Parts: sequence; C-alpha cells; structure tokens
Amino acid sequence: MNIQVDIKCTPKQASNESLYLPIVAKQLKIDVSEITKSRILRKSIDARKRDIIINLRVDIATENSDFEIEKIKFEYNDVKNSEEVVIIGTGPAGLFAALRLIELGKKPVVYERGKPISERKIDIAKINRESIVDENSNYCFGEGGAGTFSDGKLYTRSKKRGSVTRILEILNNHGADDSILYEAHPHIGTNKLPRVIKSIRETILNAGGEVHFNSKLTDIIIENNKVTGVEINESEIKKCTKLILATGHSARDIYEMLYAKKVDLEAKSFAMGVRVEHPQKLIDSIQYTCDIRSEYLPAATYNLVQQIDGRGVYSFCMCPGGFIVPAATAPNQMVVNGMSPAKRDSEFANSGMVVEVKDDDLKEFKQYGVLAGMKYQEYFEQMAYNNGGAGMIAPAQRLSDFVKARISESLPKTSYHPGILTSPMHHWMPENITKRLQKGFKLFNNKMRGYLTNDAVIIGVESRTSSPVRIPRNKDNFEHITVKGLYPCGEGAGYAGGIVSAAIDGERVAEIIGAN
Ligand SMILES: Cc1cc2nc3c(=O)[nH]c(=O)nc-3n(C[C@H](O)[C@H](O)[C@H](O)COP(=O)(O)OP(=O)(O)OC[C@H]3O[C@@H](n4cnc5c(N)ncnc54)[C@H](O)[C@@H]3O)c2cc1C
Repeated sequence: MNIQVDIKCTPKQASNESLYLPIVAKQLKIDVSEITKSRILRKSIDARKRDIIINLRVDIATENSDFEIEKIKFEYNDVKNSEEVVIIGTGPAGLFAALRLIELGKKPVVYERGKPISERKIDIAKINRESIVDENSNYCFGEGGAGTFSDGKLYTRSKKRGSVTRILEILNNHGADDSILYEAHPHIGTNKLPRVIKSIRETILNAGGEVHFNSKLTDIIIENNKVTGVEINESEIKKCTKLILATGHSARDIYEMLYAKKVDLEAKSFAMGVRVEHPQKLIDSIQYTCDIRSEYLPAATYNLVQQIDGRGVYSFCMCPGGFIVPAATAPNQMVVNGMSPAKRDSEFANSGMVVEVKDDDLKEFKQYGVLAGMKYQEYFEQMAYNNGGAGMIAPAQRLSDFVKARISESLPKTSYHPGILTSPMHHWMPENITKRLQKGFKLFNNKMRGYLTNDAVIIGVESRTSSPVRIPRNKDNFEHITVKGLYPCGEGAGYAGGIVSAAIDGERVAEIIGAN
C-alpha cells in the first residue's frame, strides 16, 4: 500500500522533491531514506497571507509497500468497418466524442471546415501581421477548435470529478504535462496544445476513424423530422442517420441555417464587455503582496465577480503571462480573446471583463427572434471594428480614463500584436455595459488595491464568452427535441462553456449513441 500525505511548505520547497520529501518523512515519523517513490497528487497555492503556502498531497511508497500508479486505461478499437457516426467540428466536443465512439466500437467520420493545425498556424499569423481573416481558418475555426490557440485552462465548474479526471488523463495520454493531473488550476499553454490535438487526430485515424479538413457543413438533410444526411461544401452529400453537431459558439452560419430550416432553437443568456490588460508584475504584487514575484511562484491570476444594478459583472478567461489575440471569424468584426504559453511568461496579464446581456438590450433586435442575441453580438463587434484602426487595430482606452469617461491621450504597451488605437470606449459602447463596467472596475479595485490604474488598458471587444443560442435537446437521449438523429453538442449547442466541459459533453453524447 502506498500512503497519501498532506503537507504545507514554501514555494521553494514545493519545487523540488529533495526539499519536500523530508517534510513528508517528518510527518510520517520515518526516515526520508525509507521513501522509495513519490508523486504529487494535488497542488494548490494559498496566497491569502504574505507568507505564501503551497499545499501538497503526496503519494509515497516505502521499502515495504508497493507503489502502483493507477492510470485509467483507454482502449481504442479498430472501427474501420464499424457503424459510422458523423461528427461536425474538431473542437474538444467533436474530438472527445470521436475518441469515446471508438472506445464503444463506432466509427467517427469527422468533418472540419478549417485546416489542420500546421496550416492553420499560417492563417493565424496572417491575421496578426496582415489583418486578413480567413472565414474558415482563424482563432476559432480549424483543427482543435477554439481551444487550440488559447491558454488551455482546464478547470471547470463541473461537479463530475470522474468525468473531469478522464478528460485530463486523455489529454495527458496525448502529450499534455503530468502537472495537469495534480495542479488545482491546470493549464496546457498555447505552445503545447497543437501537439496534443495532433496526437488525438492520430489516435482517431489509427483506429480507422476519418477526419476531413476543409470540409464545411453547408446543409443538414432532414426528412420527416429525421436526419438522413449532410451536405459538405455545398457539393458532397454524406448519408447518415446520426449526426453530432459540435460547431462551437462562433458558427453563426449554422444557427442561421437551422433557423431558416425551422429547426427549434432557443435564446440563451450570455455576456459581453472588454478585455483588460495589466502589467503582470502589478497583478503579482497585488495577489502575492510582494514587490517582485518569487521565481518559485507562477504568474498570479485573479477571479472577480460582482452584481451591479441587477446584472453579473465578472472577469472571464483570465490569462496570466499571456497575450490578447484577434479572435474574429469574418472580416469587419473586432473580437478579442486571450491566450498564454505554458510558462505564462509574457509581461502582461489579461482577462475578459464582461456584463450579462439581458432582454432589455435586445429590444432593437426583436425581429430576429431567437437569433436576437447573436445579432446584438454582431452589432457590438461591428461597432468595435468601426471604432478601431485599419484592419485588426483594436479600439482601446486606459482603464482609469475609461472609468472617468475621458479620452486617453496615449496608450500603454500591449501584447495585442496588430496594435491598438485610442478610442472613447465609454462613449460608443452600449450604456448598459459601460456603466456597469465603470462601477465594476471601481469595486474590483477595493478587492485588489491598485487594479484600477492607468497602467492598465481595456481593448474592445470581448463578445464571444458563450453561445447566445441553444440548440435544445432531450434530457434523456440528447437528441434534438424535434429532429431525430441530430445530436447538438458542446459550446455551440449551449451545453458547455470551456475546453473541459465541451470535452465532457462530447463524451456524454457519444456514450448515448454508443449505447444504441
Ligand atoms: C482565444 C481563445 C482562448 C480560450 N481559452 C480557453 C481556456 O483557456 N480554457 C477554456 O476552457 N476555454 C477557453 N476558450 C473557450 C474554449 O476554446 C471553448 O469553450 C471550446 O473550444 C468549445 O469547444 P467546442 O468543441 O464546443 O467548440 P469549438 O472549440 O468552437 O469547435 C468547433 C469546431 O467546429 C468547426 N466548425 C464550425 N462550423 C463548422 C461547419 N459548418 N462545418 C465544419 N466544421 C465547423 C470549427 O472550425 C471548430 O473547429 C478559449 C477560446 C478562445 C477563442
């Protein structure tokens, strides 16, 4: 039997086995030489006091005990000649649905509008350098979906620990660091994600599944309320009776297509706002109560939330040591988001800061029915585009200037590569958003002294926090409420809000299909 021990130590001690094992041994009243093997099971930071503590749960084996690392085993069947299930989208939902189907003996046939990662990288560079947005290959579309060029944060509010562990183990099996298995707030990093995603694709192909890139779903063939096939690139028809639709929250053409076909959709709540960027040093000094962060501590994060005038105002997708990126999926849109490399070592800390959108905001978009929220998103993005500079140059304002409603004479350095342009964002953003953000930043400054500063900048706009539309499905069999054989899945369907929850949803949908 191996023994699990909880210890508290300094960041330096936690960084090295030879420093924390003596603490473990002392707690067990044994000599450190008796410990034959060890591994960390859990690691979290307690930064509430000036002396920062690291909580470690360590699994150890001693001379007289066995040490077995219990890993979940994944067995991918040969499904070359098995029953086919069509999946649209290679985001986490689509990829994890494919892997689970293979485990259950079904053959996934996956269609992706974008390109494989290596080619997608070239298009991403073009957005940053030349402001050219390819409508099928960008920060949201292409192999791996919206999560490939991201921070790769893997935490979720999901209470299903077993499912979360499975997803982390699968990512680890496909090349993600072991640390994602024990960190309280695991993340992979944008430089490491592509390798993991490519490895998942190889698993699918090796098992006999299919992955088709540059293959956009342009129609779903529905006869007598049943799916009978899909149209790809307006030409090829693929017959199918089971279709997992995992197209993500940015596939507006999918919502339009379903709406035109009178497939039931529902409006869903969402939030919009800006991205705020601080010097990472400042966030470190606030969160760790220090002048300079210890080399043994990661770039500090934060999580802020407040109810303001009846609506939630909150930080979203915080990226410590990261970059702000242009996440538009079509020309004439300005959308920003954030990503970080594994080391989170850029000099900037960025986060979305968003306000809940309510019916009140949608009055002028009522004619679009359930798509009103999506149209409001589009309008907000276009306003940002019109108030930015040429191409992807984004509108920006120093944070204190925004709160005080005054134009910034100059702007600080930013990680946003295409560049920023000073703009009176307090003036042109919708009042329901501006007023709450202004109040929110003041209140957040009470929680994090120094947060509200003119060394920080807001960049517009953060509009794609989640899908404004739900594609409703039955609770028991996950089929669309009226169209048989259609399985809405992941964030675009309104059933997930991040990499891990989308992956979990992909697995759940695959399990339902696999059981039949
Ligand atoms: C820059 C950025 C950073 C992010 N950072 C994080 C983070 O750190 N942690 C986190 O949890 N979440 C993060 N997110 C959100 C996360 O990426 C999404 O929640 C998640 O990817 C949703 O997974 P999904 O599979 O449901 O959809 P998506 O990942 O959006 O995948 C949908 C896929 O479907 C494809 N597709 C769309 N339409 C069609 C069509 N008509 N035909 C064929 N294919 C189609 C798309 O090309 C895409 O590959 C980030 C998002 C962005 C944009």
